[in-house]
This record gives sequence, C-alpha cells and structure tokens, in this order.
Amino acid sequence: GGADIECDMLVLGAGPGGYSAAFRAADLGMKTVIVERYATLGGVCLNVGCIPSKALLHVAAVMDEVSHFESLGISYGKPAVDLDKLRAHKSKVVGKLTGGLAAMAKMRKVTVVRGLGSFMDANHLEVEETSGTAQEKTGKKQTIKFKYCIIAAGSQAVHLPFMPADPRVVDSTGALELGGNPKRMLILGGGIIGLEMGTVYSTLGARLDVVEMLDGLMQGADRDLVRVWQKMNTPRFDNIMLKTKTVGAQATKDGILVSFEGEQAPKEPQLYDLVLQAVGRSPNGKKIGAEKAGVAVSDRGFIPVDIQMRTNVPHIFAIGDIVGQPMLAHKAVHEAHVAAEVACGDMTGDAELKSAAFNARVIPSVAYTDPEVAWVGLTEDQAKAEGIAIKKGHFPWTASGRAIANTRDEGFTKLLFDAKTHRILGGGIVGTHAGDMIGEVALAIEMGADEIDIGKTIHPHPTLGESIGMAAEIAHGTCTDVP
Ligand code: FAD
Repeated sequence: GGADIECDMLVLGAGPGGYSAAFRAADLGMKTVIVERYATLGGVCLNVGCIPSKALLHVAAVMDEVSHFESLGISYGKPAVDLDKLRAHKSKVVGKLTGGLAAMAKMRKVTVVRGLGSFMDANHLEVEETSGTAQEKTGKKQTIKFKYCIIAAGSQAVHLPFMPADPRVVDSTGALELGGNPKRMLILGGGIIGLEMGTVYSTLGARLDVVEMLDGLMQGADRDLVRVWQKMNTPRFDNIMLKTKTVGAQATKDGILVSFEGEQAPKEPQLYDLVLQAVGRSPNGKKIGAEKAGVAVSDRGFIPVDIQMRTNVPHIFAIGDIVGQPMLAHKAVHEAHVAAEVACGDMTGDAELKSAAFNARVIPSVAYTDPEVAWVGLTEDQAKAEGIAIKKGHFPWTASGRAIANTRDEGFTKLLFDAKTHRILGGGIVGTHAGDMIGEVALAIEMGADEIDIGKTIHPHPTLGESIGMAAEIAHGTCTDVP
C-alpha cells in the first residue's frame, strides 16, 4: 500500500541524538521526518534529564552557598521554599529549550510526527498518534516510507521488581516533579543521577540514605576525586551503605519500609518518605519492532552498531543511549552527526560524508553535584589496572587564588601523562565548575597535547581554569607556585 509520508531520512526519537541527527540530515539536504511520542522535542535530556536536573541543582548550589555567608559577614533569613514556584521555574527553563528546538525543526523544514513508532519492515515505520502528557493513543495511524533511518529511541529508568507501586517510590522523572517535602529519602544506587537528585532534596531539607552494591559511590571516577565530594557531602547523609542491596520494600501508612542485605545493611528495615530508584537505565531496543526491519537487538535491548553507527541493516543506523554506554547526551549528539553524514554520503555518493566515523578518543563524564566531579580519558585506577606508566600533575586548589576568593578551595585538578611520550592521557577535576573545565582536558587529549603544550598555554588569572596549566607544569617539574 502507499505510505502517508515519504522521506529520505526517518529519525525515530527526538532526544539529543534524534534531533541532532535530524537537523544535520536536513542541513545536508535530506528530506527528513522525526517521530516522537512526547509532546515536545528534546527527549529525556531536555524534558526529564540533564536540563531540569541542572535547573534544580543550580538553585540548590546557590542556597548552599549563601548558607555559609554568615561567616563572611553577610546574613539572610532562613530560606523559605515555594515548591510551586520552583517547579514553574524548572518548567520555564525546559520550555525555553524545547520551544527553541521546535523552531529550529521548522526552520529546517523537518517534519515532526507525534506518535509511537514501530517498524513494519526495513523501509516502513507505522506511527500511532499519541496526545496529552500521558501519551494516550488517539487511534490514528500513519505509515512513513523511508530510504534511510536513524534509530534514536533512547532508554528508560530501571525499576526494581519488588518496589511497590506508590507515589512515594519514584525514578528520576518522578523525583524531578518535586512532589513533596520528604524528611527521609533513600537513594537506590550511588551513581551520578541518584546523587544529583539527592543533592537537590537534601538542600530542600531531606536527610539522605544511599545504598550501593559496589564498594564506592560514583563508580568510574578515581577515588581521590570522589573523596573530596564525599567529605563535603557526608553531612547530608545518615547512612551511606556500600556493598549492600535492597531486598524488599513495603508501602505503609508512615512511609516506605525498606529492608537491606549486605556488608553495611542496617539490621532493621528503615522507613522513608521518598525512595528514588536510580539503579541504571535500560535501552528501548526491544520496544520498536526492530525485528520486523531485520535490525539485530541484544538480549539487554541494545542495538549493535559499527563505528559509522550502522546496524546490521546497512541503511538503518542507531545512536545514543540505545547503542550502549556511556549513556550521555554529548555522546548521542556526536554519534548523531556521524550517522546523518554517513547516510547522506550513501545517498549522494559524497565520499567525504560517506567516510564519517565515530573516532572520538574520549567522552567526558561529569557529576553536577556540589562540588562537581569531572573526569575524562584514562583514570589512575585504569592506569594501575592496565599497567600503564603515567606521570601525574596534581594541583590542589588551596593554591588557587580564585578558589580561595570563592571560598571554595576544597578541590583539585590532576592530569595524567604518558610517562614516555609526555602526552596527556586523562584528567580529573573536583571542585566548583569542574564540569565547565573538563572540556579543555578533552581537547588536549584529542589534540595529542603534552605537558609543555598545556603548561605553556597562557590561562587567564585568576581563574579555576589556571589549575589545568599548573597541573601540567607540576607534571613537567616547572611549577614554582605550589609548595
Ligand atoms: P533520549 O533522550 O532517551 O530520547 C529518546 C526519545 O525517543 C524520547 O523522547 C522517547 O520518547 C522517544 N521514543 C522512544 N521510543 C519511541 C517510539 N517507539 N516512538 C516514538 N518515540 C519514541 N546526560 C548528560 O550528558 N549530562 C547530564 O547532565 C545528564 N543528566 C541526566 C539526568 C537524568 C535525571 C537522566 C535520566 C539522564 C541524564 N543524562 C545526562 C542522560 C541523557 O539524558 C541521555 O544520555 C540522553 O537523553 C540520551 O539521548 P538519546 O537521544 O539517545 O535518547
């Protein structure tokens, strides 16, 4: 039968991967359609992820900062929190960005189709229209015929099977709704998302517990970075339970009663006003009818791709959270551009586009906690495990004029260099604005910079960014500013 819409490029999902792919494809001249079940573009990141969480974290960081101003001679009253206004602020931030995306799609003549997409075969997608915020199906169906496709259907929060269905048990999406003012909150999973949301709730007045199966919080980051965060944040927590897991939970009148098992498990079940499940995200690969298009999906729901983001079906690509770790927006965007370019190269025969590939050496990670923890490339733990000989430059912020002026000198910057070639292999920063600074370290790695390149680059004074130059000089043995 005939299709309702025909296009060169169909993009399934409008998260950072999807909209970036659609925009690049359209800019390259492909007739592009993007299918999204949500009412707005932007996916998890803009609607219920990166952006709303940062809007709230900003407010929390400012509240925490002014709370110690009294010792600087400035005093304010006790903070009064109006959750409705705070929620409205968060929605405004999100709305500005999603509205901007809609305008950009229009400008590029990208057709946005609202609904739930499912493959019919390797060149057709069926879309069941959805409406409202609850994604109700309207019963209307459309068929889209495509030459090329980029799957960017993302991921969702994992829910533990024994957690009761109760408004006091939430995932990150529920937590971002700021439904109430919990006194005691349990964070399941000591990863970035859980600790970020915990920071917000704790600043708003909750006491925190966190339970993590592994032997430390914020896995992936070097322990020396995490230690600085933990020292400052320990006062937020009643219990940090490592090598421990949740084994049961029960909704009661007084709260959610949770029982634990493991090395640091409390003997008695504990009662919480809010339980946040932040135990990971699972890819949506099994929910899009991929098998009808012949696209291979792993047992866990990931779609395997090559470095050009091609699936096993050569004209169908996949990007973002659905192709694997790390599940980060900046990775999705980078992959999106590769996939759109390769597809356009296939269509037009343009050799340069056709040879695009994911060649990034490193993908930075940031926990937007207070202080922030950011790292990129090789970590010290990895260097040790893999027997890589490194030279380290460690610059403590107690020697940074700016950090001291900011009253925030608890952090440090460290860079790791190849002991033989002196080229930079990785770096980590803990402190305020660490996330804004780590990009320079990523650039240095991509450029193959060595200690001298970084150390001799003039950084503005007094900035936190100077610490990157200093750390390089320390590694090189030419820093005279640190005792
Ligand atoms: P998604 O953003 O998941 O988008 C997929 C889209 O596809 C969704 O809009 C979905 O509705 C749509 N879709 C799925 N199936 C269908 C279908 N069948 N039909 C139609 N539409 C469909 N990353 C960072 O880099 N920095 C951060 O600070 C950060 N903070 C985060 C905070 C939280 C609370 C969470 C949950 C995540 C955070 N992330 C962060 C991760 C980031 O949000 C994801 O890595 C990113 O959104 C992945 O983009 P994506 O395009 O692959 O998929």
